[in-house]
Amino acid sequence: MYRDGARKSIWQDEIKRFSTETDLSQLFSVAIVGGGITGVSTALKLQESGEKCIILEAANIGFGTTGGTTAHLNDFFDTTFTKAIQDFGLENAKLYAESGRDAIAIIEGHIDKYKISCDYARKAAYLFALDEEQEKKLKSIAEGAAKVGHEMTYVNEIPFPMPFKEAVCIPGQGYFHPVKYIKGLCEAFIRLGGEIEENCRCESHDENEDHVILKTSKGEIRAKQVIYATHIPPGINVLHFTNAPYRSYAIAFTLKDNKYPWELGYDLSDPYHYYRIQECDGENLLIAGGEDHKTGHADDTGEHFSKLENYIRQYFEVETVHYSWSSQYYEPVDGFPYIGKLPDSKGKIWVATGFRGNGMIFGTLSSQILHDMIITGKSKYQNLFNPTRIKPVAGFSDFVEEASSVVFDFIKDKIFVDKIASFSEIKNGEGKVIRYESESYALYKENDGTLHLLKSTCPHAACEVRWNSAELSWDCPCHGSRFNVNGKMLTGPATKDLQKVFPYQKY
Ligand SMILES: Cc1cc2nc3c(=O)[nH]c(=O)nc-3n(C[C@H](O)[C@H](O)[C@H](O)COP(=O)(O)OP(=O)(O)OC[C@H]3O[C@@H](n4cnc5c(N)ncnc54)[C@H](O)[C@@H]3O)c2cc1C
Repeated sequence: MYRDGARKSIWQDEIKRFSTETDLSQLFSVAIVGGGITGVSTALKLQESGEKCIILEAANIGFGTTGGTTAHLNDFFDTTFTKAIQDFGLENAKLYAESGRDAIAIIEGHIDKYKISCDYARKAAYLFALDEEQEKKLKSIAEGAAKVGHEMTYVNEIPFPMPFKEAVCIPGQGYFHPVKYIKGLCEAFIRLGGEIEENCRCESHDENEDHVILKTSKGEIRAKQVIYATHIPPGINVLHFTNAPYRSYAIAFTLKDNKYPWELGYDLSDPYHYYRIQECDGENLLIAGGEDHKTGHADDTGEHFSKLENYIRQYFEVETVHYSWSSQYYEPVDGFPYIGKLPDSKGKIWVATGFRGNGMIFGTLSSQILHDMIITGKSKYQNLFNPTRIKPVAGFSDFVEEASSVVFDFIKDKIFVDKIASFSEIKNGEGKVIRYESESYALYKENDGTLHLLKSTCPHAACEVRWNSAELSWDCPCHGSRFNVNGKMLTGPATKDLQKVFPYQKY
């Protein structure tokens, strides 16, 4: 398995294994936990500065969201400049705008310096309003952009077949192949003396006076500094209350009429649909994304693919759908990412999360911020994205909603579980949490009747997992931990697998 889901993403074939024969008993300068764009970019930056770094990855490089993204490179964000001005003030919103430009410059710098062939291209982006409500949104977005000095120009035409009401063009955006890109970064990192340890799951840490001890599946590893690039660090942390996990869907397809829109496109629906092209094995594929929902909160995840495909078919002459996959991102309660010292850390543990749908940018920017904080003790972004910030106004109602929904999920699923008398009541191909002889189980029956039976309680915070039919996984609605049908952990913050009750049997 190379990605944290059963479906194959368009990027996945490029994933390769990295193993450096590492002496894990040495004291590292920095241990970076997580081998996605955030971890890999940060490790490279620190290694470039002469720090002895190691990347510790639970599965393989690109296993997480970076292997399931859509990889648009934008310097305008899901949290609009208007919202940023409203909640953080004009000067902070200007700095926020600068962060996107800085991140794209870092990516371009790496591609150039390390000669990374990753299908990178600069493109214009088109934001378009499909109805009056969206027109108002667009007006507000464009006004905010003007205030922070970000170029957005109203246009009369867009290269997409949607009947739009109004649209703006934003120059200087881009896209790339995320796995080819991080593979290139890893190769550069190793050439500079960096170490990568795959299949190494970090379970907890102990922060001492002069170093941190990480407890991992490969034993204890010591480092002077630790960076969690795992979304939320393992264990229970305040970040669970300020970030909520969401699933997002993507499909890649060919067009009968060959009318590929070569720029980037975004409508303003909630959640929005968005588009880009990727060449794959000599063929152009249009990638469309959208239909997001909170993890574990969709009755039928498969339906989200159908909805996305039906939506696209209204506008495009779809020939063949080649790939369809979903992945996970994190929504911060006040709209800004959390990059900096881990709350409660004594100063040697760092974190980068809450990127919304802009993690290519904020994952990259994290590398600069964390590098600067560790090497020089300061960064121009340290206050803006400080993980310990408290914003009582911005996002407060969302905060209450997210937190109470977690408590509700916890209680509801403990009470309302289907009771069954025999496993034969479960159909082939079905996954369900059931109550059987006063215990609750996560049960999946393959099409040939092979049964996978697990305890349904998430080992992280004891919530009940829910079935994700699209990715054949058990997803925790509380904090987003995910497990495959054999109970193996796919996505943290859990650090243990779901408990297996007994291996495959046929019923
Ligand atoms: C469908 C979708 C489309 C998106 N499109 C875009 C886009 O167009 N543009 C954009 O900018 N952003 C986009 N995003 C967001 C972006 O992809 C993510 O924010 C980004 O990939 C996150 O990178 P990361 O390195 O922080 O995390 P990941 O890539 O998830 O990497 C984290 C790694 O940590 C490992 N790990 C976890 N726990 C442990 C542990 N305990 N021990 C060791 N290792 C561990 C995991 O195995 C994983 O490999 C999208 C997100 C989704 C879901």
